Formats: sequence, structure tokens, C-alpha cells
Amino acid sequence: MKVLIVCPKCNQMYFEGNTAFGAPTIHSVPITDNGICIFTCERGHTTSTLFTQPKFEVLCEVAAQAIVDGYFRDAVASFAAALERAMEFYCRVIFNTRGKDDEFNLAWNPLDKSSERQFGFFHAVFSMENSKKVPALNDGKKGTQFRNKVVHKGYIPAKAETVEFGQTIVDLIIEIIAPLHTKYAASVSNVTEALLPPRAERPSSRSYNRSLFEWQQTGERFPTLKLSTFIERESEQKKHVAFSNFLAGFPPTPGSSLALPRTDCS
Ligand SMILES: [Zn+2]
Repeated sequence: MKVLIVCPKCNQMYFEGNTAFGAPTIHSVPITDNGICIFTCERGHTTSTLFTQPKFEVLCEVAAQAIVDGYFRDAVASFAAALERAMEFYCRVIFNTRGKDDEFNLAWNPLDKSSERQFGFFHAVFSMENSKKVPALNDGKKGTQFRNKVVHKGYIPAKAETVEFGQTIVDLIIEIIAPLHTKYAASVSNVTEALLPPRAERPSSRSYNRSLFEWQQTGERFPTLKLSTFIERESEQKKHVAFSNFLAGFPPTPGSSLALPRTDCS
């Protein structure tokens, strides 16, 4: 899986007025599990970019990219994983609000290899916090049956089915995560920080990929269209957003020209 990154050094040079080489190129770079992407641009700048988004956001972006590129089975698998990680994130935030991070780890670690047991944990935590039905995939042909057919039985879904499944996942994630941003913003920030690689392993320069939180503080246009900004922007207006609208704007980058050439790094 690859993500789109603009070389931070080229970007800085360009916005400081060094435009002789033209606008910075968008690079397609393999993403890593710890969120640190190291790459060398066509001018020889080797930089590290840290993705500070929680894993569920990255997985949704991975899924969106897979749809755009035509890998629909991969997209379904990534969406399914994104929902599970959103549920974990929710539980981490709720425990953090009570100062019980250690207790969370003690309780969660034994469940690490069982999605069903993790869902049971989320079910209990969500029910303690809310007086409403727990958000979950339904058992029907467009819910868990579809997911299992794709992930476990090798079914190759059509694009329309994949986008519909993505819509279901995005709606569920919005329902689970969006309220945390208004109710427990500090804990969302704490947990996001805690899930990043240790500080000693992070890029030393200010080459972090901007997170939702920085976005909110600066109000600047974000160089790539992240699900988090999409969720925040759209969920204020309506509960159910059209995931196809998100795809329509993916991967072109706000703030830069669609005419920018793309290079493919291995
Ligand atoms: Zn560069």
C-alpha cells in the first residue's frame, strides 16, 4: 500500500519562493506499520514523514486508495480492519478519560488475537457510556456475511459493492469516533500520541504529516484529504456522508494543482 506525500524540503523551498523547479511533485510512497515513511525525492532529498493519524484513519485511506486503484478485495479487508481499530481506539479513549491506561492494556492484551472478543469488550464499554444501540456491522449479506465472503472465501467484489461496504464502515466509524472529538478531545489527543512510535524513533525535523488536531489549530488546507478532516467537516452537516464523494476527491490534493505530475517510488 502506498500513500501520497509531497517532499517537505521541496515544498518548503517552493513556498519560500524557489520556484525554478516548478511545484513540488506528489510521490506515491509505501506506508509502514509504524507510520514513518522514509523516501528520497527526485532532487535527492531524503526525508521522513510521520503519519500521526490513528490506525483506523490510515486503514480507511488505504481502503480508499485501493478502490481508486481497482483492488476491491484489499479495500474490503482494510475497511474491516479499520472498524476494528476504531472500536479499539474508542475503548482506549474511554479508559484514558478515567486515567486507566494501564488497566486498559491489562484487559485488552489477552484479547489481541480475537476480533470477536475485542468486539465484546467494545460492546460493554460503549454500553457503559451510551444509552443506545452499539454500532456494529449487521449479520446480513451486506454486513459480516459480505466481509467474511471476501476476506475468508476469496470472493472478488464489484466496485459498487465495495463502495457500499465502505459507506457502511465510514458511517459506523463516524458514529463511534465523532462524539469523542467533542466530548473527550484531550483523551483523543492523549491516545493518538500514545499510539505513535517512541519519540526517539520519530523524524527529528518538522516533517510530520499534519494531523486533524494541527489542522483544527491552524485552519490551513491539508495537503492530502484525510478521512478525519472529511469526517469532521461532513458530520457537522449531516450524519450520513456519501463515501463516494470522498472517493471523488481522492487522491487529488487540496491546495495543489490536479495537473501536478505523480511519480511512483518503489
Ligand atoms: Zn525534495
